[in-house]
Amino acid sequence: IWEKCTARLKEELSIAEFNTWIMPLQASEQDGVLRLFAPNRFVLDQVEMYYKEKVEALCERLTDGTIAQVLIEVGTFHNETPIEHDDRKSEHRPPRTTKRSTGRTEKVAAHVSNLNSEFTFDTFVEGKSNQIARAASLQIGNNPGRAYNPFFIYGGVGLGKTHLMHAIGNTLLSKDRSRRVVYIHSERFVADMVRALQHNQITEFKRYYRSLNALLIDDVQFFAGKERSQEEFFHTFNALFESKQQIILTSDRYPKEVSGLEERLKSRFGWGLTVSVDPPDLETRVAILQSKAAIMDVDLPDEVGFFVARRIKSNIRELEGALRRLVANAEFTGQELTVDFAKAVLRDMLIAQDKMITIDNIQKVVAEYYKIRITDLISAKRTRSISRPRQIAMTLAKELTKHSLPEIGTAFGGRDHTTVIHATKKINSLRKEEIAVEEDYKNLLRILTS
Ligand code: ADP
Ligand code: MG
Repeated sequence: IWEKCTARLKEELSIAEFNTWIMPLQASEQDGVLRLFAPNRFVLDQVEMYYKEKVEALCERLTDGTIAQVLIEVGTFHNETPIEHDDRKSEHRPPRTTKRSTGRTEKVAAHVSNLNSEFTFDTFVEGKSNQIARAASLQIGNNPGRAYNPFFIYGGVGLGKTHLMHAIGNTLLSKDRSRRVVYIHSERFVADMVRALQHNQITEFKRYYRSLNALLIDDVQFFAGKERSQEEFFHTFNALFESKQQIILTSDRYPKEVSGLEERLKSRFGWGLTVSVDPPDLETRVAILQSKAAIMDVDLPDEVGFFVARRIKSNIRELEGALRRLVANAEFTGQELTVDFAKAVLRDMLIAQDKMITIDNIQKVVAEYYKIRITDLISAKRTRSISRPRQIAMTLAKELTKHSLPEIGTAFGGRDHTTVIHATKKINSLRKEEIAVEEDYKNLLRILTS
């Protein structure tokens, strides 16, 4: 069925869209459910947002209703013939190339902007915490490549970095549709590069990125430890910079502090303008809630807005999640949006919020517990006395925080997400075999959650 489905999708979507979002998916089918496996969260989000409904409708039609549900998750489909499956994996996305009508003879792949049209300046609420970042972003949208290049936005999770980046991209395009603007998450950049290498298409890959007018790379901390990608990106950066094309980057920290990045990249990242987005103050949080409620066409009473904004402080994505949950619950139960209602609906969310377990916190507690240094915990050291606590800390981070595996890996000295998977598996099996490990784990869990 997936084959039939993809055949149809290929007809309906543009080649670039199809290659970027549909080709990387793997599928398995059971009991009326089609499971799709995305190589990473980024693809998952995009597919979930833009293509899932279409796939579901197609499946239902093509199977006369036998398959009516589609689930998407990050991962790979493990079947009995792993070799064959690996083959399939490496065949993803043979980059298609198109000749441009401009008479240029060199082949440049059709570009996909990946921009989310909902992330604009109109939907971005201004506050003290993001004023400078927003003003600078506006400038760049109106006058790219000159004043601030590269433009670097840093700040914590869910504070609007990605939103601002898309807003710049959307502005650039709205002023001139012919601009080649591309947004890409750095994980995706790395994955695409690896694939290009496997298929001897690195030349096309380079040409593609160097042909752009604006390159927007999100979360560059994910380049940590990926030396080949950094090398490639370094040259791309230089080419774009020289020809005065706009480069925009985001990261969870200040350029110089991104660990696992080559010095020459770090220093270049700081050449233009670097701005931060900070946690919003109460008034801004309320204003954001009101703005999101208006977009959802919902009347949010002020006191409910204040109640939610008081309790959820550090992350706008969570704020939005809370609102969505409230609205869905109110619609479902037909109840009014009151403070009491909000208290009841958001109970567990608020408890988790109050505890505020972070990776930093986990590293600190684990290091103290084992009497080792945090720097050792995130170092490359592999001795048992260091690596075991490290694996435990990674497992705790997976259990107690909402961070993705790549994010956890990055926080532990720029390790790969597969290292985190390995660590959690190891610890979970050791907990059954060695009482000491189980004891340690439980103690740490108690310290962190009480
Ligand atoms: P980051 O990339 O910093 O982790 P995002 O840009 O993904 O954060 O923002 C998370 C969510 O919060 C998005 O849905 C975004 O639209 C919303 N958001 C963040 N800042 C603002 C703001 N100032 N006004 C409106 N929405 C915002
Ligand atoms: Mg982001």
